[in-house]
Amino acid sequence: MAIDGAPHGPERGTTTCQLHMRSFPDGAEITIEPWRSAAFPVLKDLIVDRAAFDRIVQAGAFVAVNTGAPQDGNALPIPKDDAEKALDAAACIGCGACVAACKNASAMLFVGAKVSHFLYLPQGRVERDRRARNLVAAMDKEGFGNCTNQYECEAACPKEIPVRVIAEMNREFLRSKLREEPPKERLGGDG
Ligand code: SF4
Repeated sequence: MAIDGAPHGPERGTTTCQLHMRSFPDGAEITIEPWRSAAFPVLKDLIVDRAAFDRIVQAGAFVAVNTGAPQDGNALPIPKDDAEKALDAAACIGCGACVAACKNASAMLFVGAKVSHFLYLPQGRVERDRRARNLVAAMDKEGFGNCTNQYECEAACPKEIPVRVIAEMNREFLRSKLREEPPKERLGGDG
């Protein structure tokens, strides 16, 4: 919920459910509201429907390849920096505060977190092209806006997901488009 206009309230890196009343002065009048975004319709009181996020996740925020039995930890070395980046992105809880904080109701911090989460892990990299294309298409279909670099999402995110994930998402999307096979008619002949 938004508290006094701030998604999740006044404390940085803190969800509403972690917030203590001692964060507010004695006798303060507090205004609480549901998220405001056309893609998150209000169901009742403070409850909004965030199924749009679920549909984006269903479009590709998972690993579909058969990875076999669990690997021994040392059999698949992952550089520490990469592991840290993947885990930072995996901290996203899908709360939607980034959308509520953005004047464009952009979901790019959320979608970027999903892209970044898998990008730095070898198991996730196999499907990177399809994932970037499908997640961006699903995000657009749900009616979320675009990023105009205001960074309100990063400030509101209770998991402190960094805006670098948006740049990574854009880079992955562009890469996937460049690697897309050209339509057959452009190849000439019978293709
Ligand atoms: S990126 Fe942050 S604000 Fe957005 S859904 Fe994930 S945890 Fe919530």
